[in-house]
Amino acid sequence: MGRVVVGVAVSVAVAACAVAAVVVGRRVKSRRKWRRVVGLLRELQENCETTVGRLKQVVDAMAVEMHAGLASEGGSKLKMLLTFVDNLPNGSEKGTYYALDLGGTNVRVLRVQLGGRMSSILDKDVERQPIPQDLMTSTSEDLFDFIASLLKEFIEREGDSPESLLDRRRELGFTFSFPVKQLSVSSGILIKWTKGFAIRDMVGKEVAGCLEQAVTRKGLNMRVAVLVNDSVGTLALGHYHDADTVAAVIIGTGTNACYLERIDAIIKCQGLLTTSGGMVVNMEWGNFWSSHLPRSSYDIDLDADSPNPNDQGFEKMISGMYLGDIVRRVILRMSEETDIFGPVSSKLLVPFILGTPLLAKMHEDDSPELTEVGRILREKLEIPDAPLKVRKLVVKVCDVVTRRAARLAAAGIAGILKKIGRDGSGGITGGRSRSDNRMRRTVVAIEGGLYTSYTMFREYLHEALTEILGEEIAQHVILKVTEDGSGIGAALLAASHSRVQLL
Ligand code: ADP
Ligand code: MG
Repeated sequence: MGRVVVGVAVSVAVAACAVAAVVVGRRVKSRRKWRRVVGLLRELQENCETTVGRLKQVVDAMAVEMHAGLASEGGSKLKMLLTFVDNLPNGSEKGTYYALDLGGTNVRVLRVQLGGRMSSILDKDVERQPIPQDLMTSTSEDLFDFIASLLKEFIEREGDSPESLLDRRRELGFTFSFPVKQLSVSSGILIKWTKGFAIRDMVGKEVAGCLEQAVTRKGLNMRVAVLVNDSVGTLALGHYHDADTVAAVIIGTGTNACYLERIDAIIKCQGLLTTSGGMVVNMEWGNFWSSHLPRSSYDIDLDADSPNPNDQGFEKMISGMYLGDIVRRVILRMSEETDIFGPVSSKLLVPFILGTPLLAKMHEDDSPELTEVGRILREKLEIPDAPLKVRKLVVKVCDVVTRRAARLAAAGIAGILKKIGRDGSGGITGGRSRSDNRMRRTVVAIEGGLYTSYTMFREYLHEALTEILGEEIAQHVILKVTEDGSGIGAALLAASHSRVQLL
């Protein structure tokens, strides 16, 4: 009897030890797993590090590359394209003008009625549509026919009779947000596609002509008065409202910037004369590159998998098209190397499945249980039941990726300010003597869904700009959102470059 009791007691003890061993084993395993994930997060943080010191190196590199791009054709990855826009709207423009804004995600059709005095926009009408995905890789005819149809429907809604579609000639500003070699202010050749567009037959073609042919096919009488980039349109509207506006930055699907340069600083086109002594230069800064840029293995993989490897390096770290996908790649790696997300979800293998607006939603989830993060993981990525600890980790990843993007964009802006002597470092300020180092009020117009709709991104950008410039200088630099600026600005430029005064 006694032996039986002892036997049972021993068996229980053995079983308890076994259970304990399993539990401890699991804990050790789980701790090891967690350590691995934390290691991956640390590695990401280190590779995305943007200390002020590093940002200042990026600022300097940006200014140096700007000089190089202005000195000679092909002198830098920064193309520093001439726009032939030598006068910005000043508020005296008058009449009704149209614009078509082809971005990376949306296309907008606009009509503005200008009062002719003191920057008054009497009326404006904006219609926005997403660009159908299939048209981004179709033929130029398909794309332009689609755009021309939108224009026609827009104008038909004005209530004119069909005859007057042809009778009345309309002047249009065309905002085409891809790298273009301008031939004049109203014509230019597509250099290459960016932001996922890939219509082969279009590269090398004259862009305004393609649109004019398509609108003529639709029976419209319309002239492309100016062909501009979105940043140039944004600068035009910024300047229309505030004459201290010297540069414009786009942070949407893609990213780009332009600024007003002195003509004698554009060395690559010596002999070019403008009445104003200046010209807007389209930097195409999405293609900026410097060894000082903090780069992770995820960026390298994203670039290699893209249709344009070794191209648009700055854009791929900053803009809305890519941020979500960098985060997806980090989560995928964490999921492959540990099982903290459960079995690897096949959704994690789908490129661009996690759009930047979803990244923003997760990042800005301030609920105690991170319910929005849980919902997006479950519904979009098919990762059910991620514990709170894991959801917190995802938020951290979003933070690292967004913070780096915003801070690099700030360094880019500071680079422009440095180039034009508005960073407080004592450059010549608009004709004042060098001894007068007082910083002039400097406005940078900004547009793009990433900047306007993503609060954390915006805050990180502002914070970094102040860190780079210092509080004193930063208070003279104003970042101003110009709503629909890229389109309205193109209509304004159409007005200032119009051959006829339209009422
Ligand atoms: P486009 O680049 O086509 O001119 P927008 O300037 O409107 O268009 O920018 C759209 C891009 O902005 C989207 O592709 C997306 O990446 C980003 N975006 C839009 N809304 C948000 C948001 N709420 N949070 C973060 N990013 C956003
Ligand atoms: Mg746009």
